Amino acid sequence: MKTIFGLVDCNNFYVSCERVFNPKLEEKPVIVLSNNDGCVVARSDEVKALGVKMGIPVFKCKDLIKKHRIHVYSSNYALYGDMSQRVMDTLAQFTPDLEIYSIDEAFLSLSGFTSLNLTQYGKHIKNTIKKWTGIPVSIGIGPTKTLAKVANHIAKKNPQFEGVFDITEHPQIDVLLDSIEVADVWGIGYQYSQFLNQNGIYTALQLKNAPDKWIKKHLTVVGLRTVDELRGISCIPLEQVAPPKKGIISSLSFGRPVETLAELKEAVATYVSRAAEKLRSQKSVASCVHVFLTTNRFKDEPQYSNYATFWLPIPTAYTPDLIHYAHQNLGKMFKPGYRYKKAGIMLTGILSQQQVQLNLITPSYHPSREKILMKTIDQINARWGSDTVKYAVAGIQRLWKMRQSKKSPRFTTHWKEIPVVRTSF
Ligand SMILES: [Mg+2]
Repeated sequence: MKTIFGLVDCNNFYVSCERVFNPKLEEKPVIVLSNNDGCVVARSDEVKALGVKMGIPVFKCKDLIKKHRIHVYSSNYALYGDMSQRVMDTLAQFTPDLEIYSIDEAFLSLSGFTSLNLTQYGKHIKNTIKKWTGIPVSIGIGPTKTLAKVANHIAKKNPQFEGVFDITEHPQIDVLLDSIEVADVWGIGYQYSQFLNQNGIYTALQLKNAPDKWIKKHLTVVGLRTVDELRGISCIPLEQVAPPKKGIISSLSFGRPVETLAELKEAVATYVSRAAEKLRSQKSVASCVHVFLTTNRFKDEPQYSNYATFWLPIPTAYTPDLIHYAHQNLGKMFKPGYRYKKAGIMLTGILSQQQVQLNLITPSYHPSREKILMKTIDQINARWGSDTVKYAVAGIQRLWKMRQSKKSPRFTTHWKEIPVVRTSF
């Protein structure tokens, strides 16, 4: 059977989420900032047209923000995560085979749908998502994932296609590939695109026509797969179940410098709780914990950073144990008299819960009362919002938390912040 893929990508996703609940932002310039309100991570089309680049620090575009009355938002991950789930749930109605690729992108298998006009079907999907969730999307359709990505790019850049483009319908795919910069090909990162440019390859078409041997030598077999995909040979299948993560990292910069061990302990306990929750959601345990802390190296003040790595007596996903060991090591590393900017933890040596070697002295995590307790806490937090139940050592006030001064309400995940419609009779 001929393979056909669709790539659904939400347009300016974070900005679109803000617009769903604040329609006044429609057709107005809007940006969303990263953690700590540092850099621009999402831009509306109006902002892109003003030349504001992705990822630039917000202070560099202060004047533009003022001059063009750009609306500025802190990132609201509770809202974006929930809206993403709604988009993916809607998509799941249209195909049994779906790969959620990122918060705002999914690949669908359309191989069983070739009797349909796929452009029409794509438009139907796009309109349904808009109607049910309020989020605008673009859809690219192609015989391989890489070509579906190219098609998506074309759908986005050319309004005449109304957001859906099927590259398999196009009589001259090569003409299209000639218009795509090699850096925009899926899987060719910045480094490779620099290298390819130096070797005279600027477009997707030139990459497609490059000799196999040369590609394999310089871009490895992974690069060759990408090139074959440009030729219409499907090499990258749908991954319906994401492989379990090999390392889970949880760390953030503080909203203000932190100087006390007590506050650092709160932060580390919070990060451990988050990471352990992720660990349990993929049914794993960790054997090793890394803790690190650092001052702000961009500031002209005394500098100190350190990290500790330690093996657990037995692999576990039990938060109180993980916090206990992380705190022990943090206590050894901590030096007073510094202004700390960031701390974090990483869990590694990740195993499936079934793989744990038992030993006679330490009780195992699986199966046990501890495991049931963790499951209950995770269920409560999944249902009522994260941190409904949390560890007291993780802090109540959390004054060190990151800055998010312009965050919109959690419209869809928090009862107190749900939008209110007022009517008058
Ligand atoms: Mg997107």
